[in-house]
Amino acid sequence: MKIVLLGPPGAGKGTQADLISEKYRIPKISTGDLLRAAAGAGTPLGKKAKEYMNKGLLVPDDVLIGLIKEKLAEKSMKKGFILDGFPRTLAQAEALQKLIKDFVVIQIDLPDEEIIKRLSGRRMCKCGSSYHIESIPPAKDGICDKCGCTLYQRDDDKEEVIRKRLDVYRKETEPLVEFYRKRGLLKVVDGSKGKDKIFGEIRGIVGSL
Ligand code: AMP
Repeated sequence: MKIVLLGPPGAGKGTQADLISEKYRIPKISTGDLLRAAAGAGTPLGKKAKEYMNKGLLVPDDVLIGLIKEKLAEKSMKKGFILDGFPRTLAQAEALQKLIKDFVVIQIDLPDEEIIKRLSGRRMCKCGSSYHIESIPPAKDGICDKCGCTLYQRDDDKEEVIRKRLDVYRKETEPLVEFYRKRGLLKVVDGSKGKDKIFGEIRGIVGSL
């Protein structure tokens, strides 16, 4: 089972990718997580990526295509996977067509104002948990319920960077909706529903494959 999740930042792709990964026991590949890990480790690739990420810009295609090629060649990807955050440009989508066959693309969409509300209130923990100051607050302000560490805000979740990421999404990534619709690969779900409802729809899509 190969699933590509498409949608603006903040639409819930990461959350749904985790749910799908758990239910169907296939790995999730989040290019954002891979780049953040590289940035955190201070590798040359990570340092380069961080400059783009902090400005809300896309990391160049050749970097991402190389990264995804390497990842998809891993043994653990044989049974399938979920791509979260790749492809984000037409060049990436075309490269992916050459790498994999028989996949479904699920688009999760959400209006811009809702995205800004969600992302500017998002708080993360280094253990991978994520919260929202209004809708999913931790029991103790600023502290992770699961591991007790201090929560932080991603540098690119500041409002001016969010607006830039949204502009980039609408310009560079949204054309992929048509790319996949034309090829008969696209399914659409409404990201404004709760996470359980969205996951229910995704289960329906996966079940019908
Ligand atoms: P995400 O966690 O998916 O929101 O990604 C965070 C940031 O990583 C993005 O704003 C981009 O700067 C970079 N990034 C992640 N995936 C890609 C991609 N497929 N192409 C280019 N840049 C990417």
